[in-house]
Amino acid sequence: MVTMAAKWAGKCRVCGMPLPVGSQIEWAKDEGARHLTDAACAAAKLLSAAPAGPVDCTETPEERVRIMRLLLTASWRVAKTMPQVPHEYTLQKMWPNFDDFTWAVYHIRRVGYRGRFGSAYYTYYDIGEHQYWECGGDPASDDDRIGTTLINRAVRAPRSVGREA
Ligand SMILES: [Zn+2]
Repeated sequence: MVTMAAKWAGKCRVCGMPLPVGSQIEWAKDEGARHLTDAACAAAKLLSAAPAGPVDCTETPEERVRIMRLLLTASWRVAKTMPQVPHEYTLQKMWPNFDDFTWAVYHIRRVGYRGRFGSAYYTYYDIGEHQYWECGGDPASDDDRIGTTLINRAVRAPRSVGREA
C-alpha cells in the first residue's frame, strides 16, 4: 500500500468516482487505487452530483477563456415571455461578430451537458452563477446551418433544472 499522486486517470475502488491525474491516492498492486480517506470519497461524490461546469474534458483552456469572454461581454435582455421562469437572452444580431456567435453555439453544443427546461431538454453550459443554453438545432446533425438565433441564460437553480444522469 503506497500513497502517491495518480500518474494516470483511474477510478476509486471504494466509491467508484474518477481519480484524475495528480490526485492523491492510496495504491496497492492487487487492489488498485482509492481516495486517501472516506472524506475524500464523499467529496468526490458531492462534486460529481453538483451541476458544475462542462463535463466534456475536450474543452481546452483557450476555449474556456474564449466562451467566457464572449458570453460575459454579450448584451443580455430580460425575457418577458415567461415571468415564472426568469431568464435572459442574447440575440445573434446583438453580437458584433457573427462567427463568434456561431462558434459559441457550437461550443455549447459540443461540450455542454443535457438539462431540462420545463418539458424540453437543452444543452447547457455553466459559467459562474449562470447556466447558458441554446435553443435550436440538432447537435448530431451535420447540417451546417446553425439553427438558432439566440442563447439564453438563467441563474442556476439546481433543483429546477436537473442534469441527466
Ligand atoms: Zn473514493
